[in-house]
Amino acid sequence: MLPLVAIIGRPNVGKSKLFNRFLGYRKAIVSEFAGTTRDCVYGKVEAEIPFIFVDTGGIEAQTETGTLEENIQLQAQTAVDEADLILFIVNSREELTIDDYKATEAIRKSKKPFLFLASKCDSGAEDLLSFTELGFGIPIGHSALHGNGLDEIQKAIQKELENLKFKPQEIPKTSAETIALR
Ligand code: GDP
Repeated sequence: MLPLVAIIGRPNVGKSKLFNRFLGYRKAIVSEFAGTTRDCVYGKVEAEIPFIFVDTGGIEAQTETGTLEENIQLQAQTAVDEADLILFIVNSREELTIDDYKATEAIRKSKKPFLFLASKCDSGAEDLLSFTELGFGIPIGHSALHGNGLDEIQKAIQKELENLKFKPQEIPKTSAETIALR
């Protein structure tokens, strides 16, 4: 079984864009509007230790029992439950919100390994100290738009998966996304 790596974070934080960068194509829907990535999207990332990336967004429509935003949280919780490794993203350009704290709580409760990331660090000079307030240290700043920080994230994912005893596999030579990530 391949390891499952789930990306969680508030709507519009840049989950889909990061997912697409890793997968090398536009699989998830990227939108200007919070909450428009509807379903969980899965994709296999070819790397030394290959893994399945899960982009948690939300569900297709509002249900009777909750608003779309609430259902997105439910989806994220499901991803946390199923994941081997969690990628938790906060938006470097916005203040922390109650939802960031809720996600922090869910991650803590899960006792699962996680990486703490801050998105939209397009200049690379962003001050990320305020995010230590969540108690997860300083996040890895990255820009899914420009690509900075993605190598560091990939290395950190591989290290965590190695710690979890997932084994390296031979990388298919034809894989475009492999080349992009190495
Ligand atoms: P999601 O809802 O968390 O999946 O967020 P999306 O990936 O859909 O991104 C939300 C918005 O943020 C879109 O307009 C993206 O183009 C933008 N975005 C995502 N990553 C970056 C980034 O690294 N830099 C900048 N400037 N914008 C980004």
